[in-house]
Amino acid sequence: SAKEKGRNQFHFFDPDLDQHRQKRRQQLMELTRALENQEFELFFQPQVRMSDYSLAGFEALIRWNRPESGLVSPGEFLPYVENSHLEVPLGQWVLKEAIHQLNTWQQAGEDLTVSINITARHLLDRSFSDYLESYLHSHPELDPARVTLEVLESTALEDTKQANHVLTRCRSLGLQVALDDFGTGFSSLSYLRTLPIDLIKIDQSFVRNMMDSPSDKAIVESVIFLAQRFEHPVLAEGVETAEQARTLARMGCNQIQGYGIAPPIPAAEVLGWANRWRTRKQQGLDQDRLAQ
Ligand code: C2E
Ligand code: MG
Ligand code: MG
Ligand code: MG
Repeated sequence: SAKEKGRNQFHFFDPDLDQHRQKRRQQLMELTRALENQEFELFFQPQVRMSDYSLAGFEALIRWNRPESGLVSPGEFLPYVENSHLEVPLGQWVLKEAIHQLNTWQQAGEDLTVSINITARHLLDRSFSDYLESYLHSHPELDPARVTLEVLESTALEDTKQANHVLTRCRSLGLQVALDDFGTGFSSLSYLRTLPIDLIKIDQSFVRNMMDSPSDKAIVESVIFLAQRFEHPVLAEGVETAEQARTLARMGCNQIQGYGIAPPIPAAEVLGWANRWRTRKQQGLDQDRLAQ
């Protein structure tokens, strides 16, 4: 009936929706203030090569150092940021800060890379490649090939030429592009065909149970096979055990990242960690325990 139709279309008086909006608005205000007060912080998780367990670099992972409650993980606040006025400014802060950290590592004589998570909306922001270029220019001694942009499969990238255009421009600046959480989106295969990428990251949900689940193991194996056919290196996320690492090595996986190596660590601990890892590697890694 017309009345029912009306009820479905108009939600002015829906108390739940109103509460939801209010919570979102309030969270956004708090997050905006947090950005002004420099309450965000990047942690860094090591990524190591499978061939010799040498350290390749680190993925930058944002944390919110909320005065009232301590460290808040991105899963708790990024959903509020997404599709808001804060998405681009926060993304810019991450980009700038991660490149700054990479520069300090390089100045300390470390040959490392940094991987930066970029949302689709940020990537498609009109001035994205312009300020990316300006950040790189402000560190002229930095090799852009040490910077990887991690892009999530998302519907926003789906039928846009713009994504392709921006990624191509980034690669022409010398940056690397990784497809993050590969296999969890619904159009992984078409991205493989249409987007200019350098690296595939297998989502941790497939790695987690691969030793017990033949189907998860089959997926991991197939993704590695597929990546090899496209001549893209593969990084497996969420590697927690030495058994998983050995299995991934046998499958031809190129890099790993996970609690089995180290959790994300504060920026101030990165150089010390890199040093200790090198020493441990020289002494021979424990076959059954990866992490310190
Ligand atoms: P992601 O990019 O796929 O990052 C991997 C996530 O897995 C991180 O969670 C990391 O701490 C966690 N992880 C790493 N190794 C293991 C492991 O062995 N076991 C388990 N169970 N988890 C592991 P985190 O830091 O909570 O980040 C979650 C997601 O939030 C990220 O997934 C990424 O999509 C997003 N994110 C984080 N930082 C940023 C950022 O600066 N910008 C944007 N746009 N997104 C970010
Ligand atoms: Mg990532
Ligand atoms: Mg991921
Ligand atoms: Mg993820």
